[in-house]
Amino acid sequence: MISVSGVRGIVGEGLTPEVVMNISQAFGTYCSGGKIVLGRDSRVTGEMLHKAVAAGLTAMGCDILDIGICPTPTTQLAVENSKAAGGVMVTASHNPIEWNGLKLMGADGLFLDAEQGEEVLKIAEAQTFSFKTWDGIGVAVRYTRAIEEHIRAILNLKYVDLERIQTRQFKVVLDCVNGAGANLVPDLLHQFGCQIVQLHCEPSGLFPRNPEPLPENLSEICERVKVENADLGIVVDPDSDRLALISEKGEPIGEEKTLAIAVKHILSHRPGAVVINASTSRMTEDLAEPYGVSVTRTKVGEIHVAKKMREINAVIGGEGNGGVILPDLHLGRDAPLGIALTLQHLTENEMSVSQLSDSLPRYVITKTKIALDQLSAEEALNRIREMYADEDLDFTDGIKIVREKSWIHIRPSNTEPIIRVIAEAPTEKEAQNLCTHVKDKITKPLNN
Ligand code: MG
Repeated sequence: MISVSGVRGIVGEGLTPEVVMNISQAFGTYCSGGKIVLGRDSRVTGEMLHKAVAAGLTAMGCDILDIGICPTPTTQLAVENSKAAGGVMVTASHNPIEWNGLKLMGADGLFLDAEQGEEVLKIAEAQTFSFKTWDGIGVAVRYTRAIEEHIRAILNLKYVDLERIQTRQFKVVLDCVNGAGANLVPDLLHQFGCQIVQLHCEPSGLFPRNPEPLPENLSEICERVKVENADLGIVVDPDSDRLALISEKGEPIGEEKTLAIAVKHILSHRPGAVVINASTSRMTEDLAEPYGVSVTRTKVGEIHVAKKMREINAVIGGEGNGGVILPDLHLGRDAPLGIALTLQHLTENEMSVSQLSDSLPRYVITKTKIALDQLSAEEALNRIREMYADEDLDFTDGIKIVREKSWIHIRPSNTEPIIRVIAEAPTEKEAQNLCTHVKDKITKPLNN
């Protein structure tokens, strides 16, 4: 699947070196042959695609700063630090082992937005590449310090007190799912003086389970946290932009809480504007309320959140899928950052993870999807718009029905012929009822 935000597909079935090289040549042309930072996650197919990217970019005259296997946020930060013209990350994020893809970044280290992505696609389709001759092709240089610089930047944040965290001597079970996080997170935790029990911390790309850090995929670490009597469990996805936490009781506290903890921590030190996406938990709104600061919601997708944060000078933001963004570091979702803020918060407040989790506003999010058979997405949304016309509706991304302590978000999928319905309410039953209600309204004829 080629989209404005990059490429993603199953290797050998659609995603081939040719597809990747085509996009890389387009991106190299778009960047006018400037310097490009190139990173990749640990997937088995990564090296092959990495070579295709490198060939495509150097053929356009781009010099490459090859930073090797590292998290996506490390690549974003390296683009900024090295004043590159852009960045390419070879990753399929949380997708299973057979997938891979490219995430493209501009000179600011942010992912390309729709307009920029459109431009790259246009070049790819028209094949208007700026090939260089022998004396103009680019050179790839290996750069091995990007991870170290990322860690140092986190430790230098004014919100992180290294020595204080070290005094807690956290015992942590860490699951990197054999992804790129394995090259960074253990070192970060060592710096924090943690005793680490490593689970799948070889960057081999051989994922031992579904790599998406959802509670249903995390039974092994949950059990291990209990057996080891650890203070917490830490899980990152293969490219380490998403963070999930496990309490000392061996319970996954849910990725929504990752962001809520970071927001809580930052606002307690520096109250200011917050940005989240339309489907993120309203925990953040509740946490922001006492500070009287604004919470702005954007379309789903890191680039939308990041751009809004830059525009309104937000102090913290992110997405409910465990993605924390702190502009003081860079404008991208960053799991290592989330780890640092969590450990700092636990230390400062002398709390356990379950105490911290219990201190957060209580909400439950439920999700369902509706297959679009006879109905188009547009008709379905129109139906919702009519049925809920009296309510507070938000059209930032699909339709969102906003109530005092709950919301229902109805959004056509970009990739499948389905509509996603996501609801949040103080209890699971209420949230489920909201989802069912909307589903009935869409699937049953109007006069029913
Ligand atoms: Mg990811």
